[in-house]
Amino acid sequence: MRELKLENICYQYKNAGRMALENINCAFRPGTVSAVVGPSGSGKTTLLSIMAGLDRPSGGRVLLGEADLAGMDLDAYRRKDVSVIFQAFQLFPLLKVLGNVCYPMELGGVPVKAARERAGALLESVGIEAEKFRRFPANLSGGEQQRVAIARSLATGAGVLLADEPTGNLDGENSRNVVELLTRLAHEEGYCVVIVTHDPAVAEASDLVYRMVDGALQ
Ligand code: ADP
Repeated sequence: MRELKLENICYQYKNAGRMALENINCAFRPGTVSAVVGPSGSGKTTLLSIMAGLDRPSGGRVLLGEADLAGMDLDAYRRKDVSVIFQAFQLFPLLKVLGNVCYPMELGGVPVKAARERAGALLESVGIEAEKFRRFPANLSGGEQQRVAIARSLATGAGVLLADEPTGNLDGENSRNVVELLTRLAHEEGYCVVIVTHDPAVAEASDLVYRMVDGALQ
């Protein structure tokens, strides 16, 4: 698992007056849960988009281990190196639970049988019982749907997990379960976990908390 490092990152939207990100320097380590907090408009989504390889920074470098993203194919980076976990889960409603987790592996060319076996193992590892594998996502609770989404994010083998308000649609108990799961993935399996959150309980449970104010990290 590799570190994701931001060096002097700046980002300016076209037609925007001020920079959305200004000189961000930060290293997100494997085995660590980092929270990014800050008021609305402070740049959290922009930062996550740059880290997820959805856009290139206007200035500065993003490094995954020793590799500079500037020299990488961002499509490949998004497929293999980072996974994003969303507030609204973003599961495919017409695919069953197992199919959702198989999907990124099938896209990556893993044979169907091997993908199903690995998907089953991943689902069990996040606490989804086999009897739920053949349900559609809508027939699971929000907490279960988020755990399926996390299993799917692990299916590509990505070492960096970027979670955008992953507990925003969950009640207290399900939020705690999801945070515990992300923490276990970092601490026991070495994933580099970054959570953008408004939830003080999530920030509290994280190893490191970064605060964004007006495009700068404090
Ligand atoms: P947060 O996620 O913390 O709410 P954002 O990263 O969405 O913050 O926004 C950071 C800044 O960039 C804000 O000033 C916002 O208005 C601006 N911004 C966001 N998206 C765009 C866009 N597509 N075009 C121009 N400005 C944008």
